[in-house]
Amino acid sequence: MSGILFDLDGVLYLCREAIPGAAAAVAWVRQQQLPHLFLTNTTSLPRQYLVERLAGYGIQAEPESILTPPVAAANWLRTHIEGPVALFVPEKTLGEYAGIEILDSQAESGAAAVVIGDLGRRWDFTTLNRAFRLLMQEPRPRLVALGMTRYWRAYDGLRLDVAAFVAALEHASGIKAEVLGKPAAAFYRDALAQLGTTAAQTVMVGDDIQGDIRGAQEAGLQAVLVQTGKFRPDDLERGIRPDAVLPSVAAFPCWWLRR
Ligand SMILES: [Mg+2]
Repeated sequence: MSGILFDLDGVLYLCREAIPGAAAAVAWVRQQQLPHLFLTNTTSLPRQYLVERLAGYGIQAEPESILTPPVAAANWLRTHIEGPVALFVPEKTLGEYAGIEILDSQAESGAAAVVIGDLGRRWDFTTLNRAFRLLMQEPRPRLVALGMTRYWRAYDGLRLDVAAFVAALEHASGIKAEVLGKPAAAFYRDALAQLGTTAAQTVMVGDDIQGDIRGAQEAGLQAVLVQTGKFRPDDLERGIRPDAVLPSVAAFPCWWLRR
C-alpha cells in the first residue's frame, strides 16, 4: 500500500477539538512522504476554511490536498450540465462553484440541475418543497447529491445529514441522484486520480461504517475504521468488515508499520 485517504470530521477532530494524537499521526505521514489526501463529505465549508481549521489543531494541509463534495460537484457540473443550476448549499461554499450559471434563489422552474448539500437548520418545508418543484418541471433536471452521509455527531447529539433530504427528494420526484461524495465510487475514483495511486494501493481511514468503510471497500480500497467520532459499537454488527479497527487515528502509524 502506498496511499492514504483521511476522513476529517470524527477522525482528526470532533466538536471543534482535535482527536488526541491526530496531529502527530498526520505529521508522521507527511514526514514519511506518504501520498495522502483528506477526503471529506463536509459540504458546509470551503477548502480554505478547512485548511485553517486543521492548522488550528496543529495539522498541516494544503487546499489541493482536500477533496470535498462541492469541489467534485462543481467539476461534474462544468462537464455535464448546460443551463442554470439550483444550489441548495451553504452560502460559505458558493465560491467553489465559480464560473457556473446559478438559478435565481426564488425560482421554481428552469433548473438544469438541482444540487443538494447539507443546509442543516436552514432546511424547512418551503425550501425542501422548492427543490421538489424544480425537479418536477419538464425537461426534468438532474439531481446532484453532495454525498450520502446519513447523519453526523454534533455537540448535542446525532443530526440528520444530506442523505435524508436527498432520499426524500428522490422518492417524491422519481429522479435518482448523481452522488458526488462518500460513499459513491465515483468520488473515490476522483480521489485516487488526484492521489496517483490505484484502489488496491490505497487505504481509507474513517469513522463512518457506511460512507468511509463500505464506500471505500466497494471502490476496491482497504478501509480502516477508527472508534472515534460517530463510531458506535453496533457498527461492527452490520455485516461490513473493516480491514482493521483502531481505537483512534493516533494508532495509525503503528498499524501502518506493522502491516
Ligand atoms: Mg467522519
